[in-house]
Amino acid sequence: MSTINRDFRFNDAKSRHKRHPALSWGLFALASIVIGVVVASTSDFSSEAPDLAEQANMELTTLALPLKGQAETTGAQTRSVALPLKPKDAQHDTVKLETRTLNNEPQTRVTRESIRLPLPELQAQQAIIDDIQQQGAKQWRELKVKPGDSMARLFKRANISPQQLDELMKSGKAVKKLKRIFPGDTIRVLTDDNGVLQALSYEINHESYLLAERQDGKLVATIEQYEIEKRIAHASGAIKSSLFLAAAEAGVSENIIMELAGIFGWDIDFVLDIRKGDTFNVLYEELYRNGEKIADGEILAAEFVNNGKAYRAVRYVNPQTNQAEYYSEDGKSMRKAFLRSPVNFTRISSTFTTGRYHPILHKIRAHKGVDYAAKRGTPVRAAGDGKIIYRGKKGGYGKTVIIQHGSRYSTLYAHLNNYKRGQRVGGKVKQGQVIGFVGSSGLATGPHLHYEFRVNGVHRNPLTVRLPSAKPVPKRYKLDFETKTRPVLAQLDLLTRTQLAANSP
Ligand SMILES: [Zn+2]
Repeated sequence: MSTINRDFRFNDAKSRHKRHPALSWGLFALASIVIGVVVASTSDFSSEAPDLAEQANMELTTLALPLKGQAETTGAQTRSVALPLKPKDAQHDTVKLETRTLNNEPQTRVTRESIRLPLPELQAQQAIIDDIQQQGAKQWRELKVKPGDSMARLFKRANISPQQLDELMKSGKAVKKLKRIFPGDTIRVLTDDNGVLQALSYEINHESYLLAERQDGKLVATIEQYEIEKRIAHASGAIKSSLFLAAAEAGVSENIIMELAGIFGWDIDFVLDIRKGDTFNVLYEELYRNGEKIADGEILAAEFVNNGKAYRAVRYVNPQTNQAEYYSEDGKSMRKAFLRSPVNFTRISSTFTTGRYHPILHKIRAHKGVDYAAKRGTPVRAAGDGKIIYRGKKGGYGKTVIIQHGSRYSTLYAHLNNYKRGQRVGGKVKQGQVIGFVGSSGLATGPHLHYEFRVNGVHRNPLTVRLPSAKPVPKRYKLDFETKTRPVLAQLDLLTRTQLAANSP
């Protein structure tokens, strides 16, 4: 729907412009005469400014000041304001102004004659001029980060002294962000006539940017937040050959479809279970900055119909944990308490058996876990939320991590190449959090993860054990859950009905 709206607005503006070109240019010329200010908003336009200046025998200065928040937009055009300074003979100038329409259509020539300015207007004009002169020749510059660049190299290229960089790096914690800059990044700097740094801005992510500003002669760095507007978008699709093709047809980004697969991935195997005729409906956020879409936000609610069975999920921030999760309409968690496999594997090299010939020990031994063959260094993830109760070498298991999940469950990860740094015995881990990396430590023929799943201390086959669901919405938040999710679920209903209507003959 938002796309349609956008298109409408665009067409509307265009046609209006075409209908009254004479009127708009007439108004423009009038406005220019009265204030004597030429506002040029396109580069085509401002390139004509020197011509204007020459003929008017005026001195012009170009002032490009970014508006806070707006200037940081990538690819945004800087609005140039060309103001005539010190008009030498403002009374009798004939000014020829060459203009182009916005879409570069045939050029029109507008000739205007300036008029005598009454005193109040002159004073107002002088005030503007004074203001501009006070600002000096300040101008924001964009420094593009190239491969191998450091701040020092960047400043050198921009002719800003190393002392300025020293001062900047001492201007607050926020400048730490400048220690890791990447090729393609843009750093904007404002210097005065003497090349002294007045301000610097650097986009950290969609939502925030670093701003260092000289205040009372001292540079002060802060992290500023952009104003992000969230709009709700929706998409519907039917699968003909693949989920990705259906998503592309529905205009859904790859990110959103990956998240969708993640939400329903506990119930639907998106590799094996997908059928022709499966449908999806998704409501999600789009993030806008200054009216421009910058990214997709969160999925708010979604439905996936797989092989005739409908699955629905809605996003809800659990007030107890302050974490957003996806729940079914009746408040059950969409995810299980455990991942089926804690590693992205290439193949299962050994399954769970009660008796097996051990290739190294040359003995028949039970294999009470699953071996996942994977490249050395592949991240190993905690199968569920829990606490690390063991982290160290353990005989033939080599480097091993054991996690306790509540009172009933524990999982074991063996033959690790190394552990994830910064974790310790007794520390808590979240489901999916990396705890180590695949290797072949201990008794192993090649790199693989040996994974065990125990229920009440008894080994169970991780591939077949019935995995418990993650915790539902706590009872005391049930009402809150219903109140908060009702509107978005109603929207999903509407979307589903519309899709059904569209697909029925
Ligand atoms: Zn094994």
